[in-house]
Amino acid sequence: MQIVEKAGEDARKRSAVTTDLPNGGTFSTCDAWVPVPSASAAATFDVERVRADFPILSRQIGGHALAYLDNGASAQKPLCVIETLNRYYREHHANIHRGVHRLGEEATSAYEHARESVARFLNAASSRECVFTRGTTESVNLVAATWGRANLREGDEILLSTMEHHANIVPWQEVAAQTGAGIRVLPLLPDGSLDIEAFHKSLSPRVKLLAITHASNVLGTVNPVRELAAAAHEVGARVFVDGAQSAAHFPVDVRALDVDFFAFSSHKVCGPTGVGVLYGKAEILNAMPPYQFGGDMIRVVDFSGTTYREIPERFEAGTPSIADAIALGVALDYITSLRPGAMHHEESLLRRATDALSAIPGLRILGTASEKVAVLSFVMDKVHPLDAGTLLDADGIAVRTGHHCAMPLMKTLGLQGTIRASFAFYNTHEEVDRLAASLRRIRGMF
Ligand code: PMP
Repeated sequence: MQIVEKAGEDARKRSAVTTDLPNGGTFSTCDAWVPVPSASAAATFDVERVRADFPILSRQIGGHALAYLDNGASAQKPLCVIETLNRYYREHHANIHRGVHRLGEEATSAYEHARESVARFLNAASSRECVFTRGTTESVNLVAATWGRANLREGDEILLSTMEHHANIVPWQEVAAQTGAGIRVLPLLPDGSLDIEAFHKSLSPRVKLLAITHASNVLGTVNPVRELAAAAHEVGARVFVDGAQSAAHFPVDVRALDVDFFAFSSHKVCGPTGVGVLYGKAEILNAMPPYQFGGDMIRVVDFSGTTYREIPERFEAGTPSIADAIALGVALDYITSLRPGAMHHEESLLRRATDALSAIPGLRILGTASEKVAVLSFVMDKVHPLDAGTLLDADGIAVRTGHHCAMPLMKTLGLQGTIRASFAFYNTHEEVDRLAASLRRIRGMF
């Protein structure tokens, strides 16, 4: 990382920080956090070169090289993200949207450039439609508490699917209880895909909201959001998409999908924890009451009454996670620069893992839909998921075990939990082979 002084430009633009990308490109920060990836980056995706960007991947666990296959829970961070945080606190920190001093301007500029990166990442019509939240969970809660309370009434229906994460269930249950709206749950087909026929049958003018995950964190299933949104809109419903598991794996175009809300978490897309995004169409966000009240979201405060700012500030009360939002912008530019090579690589990891694990006697994969992200859940005869997870850890392999915050799905599957390997673009075929070999050995122990 180096400082580039740009003499003669205005104060905000005077210093920029550039960070080298694995593919030969550069991030320039502080003024504009814009990636300049080399043109051939996608075609020449080189997993070893990319891995060198992630210091944690060279850790040893119990004498084994770490094989981090828990990316669905949280992804690891590249140097450009780590160094952005470091650099921000060393050189640029001040509160945003307030001070007229240089640092305040630098921090504000970087924060707002991060919002531009988010808008580019989602292909939003305007960065004003991108609200920084604490993550997917807070984004769902925000919409449930504001849009939900303002728009739902007794007799209305909220459509959810059986494969939802608790974060996209419980806030709607709460607002349903407060408003008298009902919840209808969409069933799945045996391969773990959504029952589209049942979905169409459940649509009626009573349905006011479809809240659905873009990709399942357990089954890997990718839902046909564009088709679902078009049908839901025909009956006048709004569409909320939980993108916690999709944003990391493939490009999201909120305008092409024509969804009303889209939420994702920074920490799952190689950004820091503690920050995330709520996208909402401007006309819908503009009509929603604020979520929290306090500094930065107000226009005029008077004891006789207070007025609020426009979007997105209206939904960002108080001091936000400034450094984390800025580093999220860098993370998004970084992962975008690796596509589509990274996506093809992830597909190859999923294929290899599916083939290798299907060949293990007594192992059953859950979720075999044709459209899947690189998430592989499975159970093994006579082996409790927790035991499998512990034994894999002893081999340096990190997977997730349990209900994955999807208890209703587990109930439908008749399971207490599963073992889940979830891959990122920095995983290798060798790691997949190690997982298969360890599972064969574990199976032999029971
Ligand atoms: N939805 C899905 C599908 C998820 O996988 C997760 C995280 N496991 C969440 C929502 C919640 O995300 P966060 O904890 O980052 O708010």
